[in-house]
Amino acid sequence: MARHVLVSALLAIVVAGCGAASQANPNDGVVHVATTTNFITDLAHRIGGDRVDVEGLMGPGVDPHLYKASANDVSTLADAELVLYGGLELEGKMGDVLEKLDRRKPTVAVTRDMPRDRLRAEPGYEDRPDPHVWFDVDLWRSAARTTAEALVEVDPAGRATYKRNLRAYDRRLRTLDAEARERIATIPEGRRVLVTSHDAFHYFGARYDIDVVAIQGVSTATEATTADVERVAKLIADRGVRSVFVESSVPPQTIEAVLASARRQGATATVGGELFADAAGDDGTPEGTYEGMIRHNLDAIVEGLR
Ligand SMILES: [Zn+2]
Repeated sequence: MARHVLVSALLAIVVAGCGAASQANPNDGVVHVATTTNFITDLAHRIGGDRVDVEGLMGPGVDPHLYKASANDVSTLADAELVLYGGLELEGKMGDVLEKLDRRKPTVAVTRDMPRDRLRAEPGYEDRPDPHVWFDVDLWRSAARTTAEALVEVDPAGRATYKRNLRAYDRRLRTLDAEARERIATIPEGRRVLVTSHDAFHYFGARYDIDVVAIQGVSTATEATTADVERVAKLIADRGVRSVFVESSVPPQTIEAVLASARRQGATATVGGELFADAAGDDGTPEGTYEGMIRHNLDAIVEGLR
């Protein structure tokens, strides 16, 4: 808590002190963009191309629900000309910081323009949004458009470049969306059940027609209860689920507890591989990009369930 207060105070000083943040890096010819999760970093690179310098705060394996801005992050945010974040309460502990930034510089949630009727609520909490929109690839196309618009606003001279990059990336996303649909459809319908540790895959399930069952809530801030573990274990036994999945940004203990209980009820389910949920993989690997992360998950799910 004390650290959080310190960061807020630092942010107040930094943003008050330097006025227009674009003055921090004058005349170096690129737009300085700060991003939160690493797949938003990837998005900024895809749309911004050579005109942007992107600094992402959260690397691979980082849980955005629990992430708090460090003093170093605060100066990165203060130096940026544009801040891109997920929104819908994804960065649950950065709300104050983002709100303060928004008064000083363009601070844009990439989910800003998504059609409200495509957004989901957290299961059991009608007033809480489910922020995991990136697992509906078609919806992520909206994030790409919003990113392009935000870049045009801070750098109107780059309009043609951003529009061109958007068109090219949008084609790739449409291909990826179709690919996801085709691949999930190869799993026999009765086996289309995705059991994971935290509730990140409802957009994926709705878009690609697979049932989603999670042990933990949408935010990893709440821990799974014994009742959660027993509920999911029973479902695994009843439906004959063969594989359950662990996530790169969540500790695997809860899944293991579920599997142990399911086996006591006669199930033979095993761990079907790791899924990327709230963070893409390492920089420089195929899974380090948004597209690579989705494809990795498709491979793991199809292999585990078919
Ligand atoms: Zn999550």
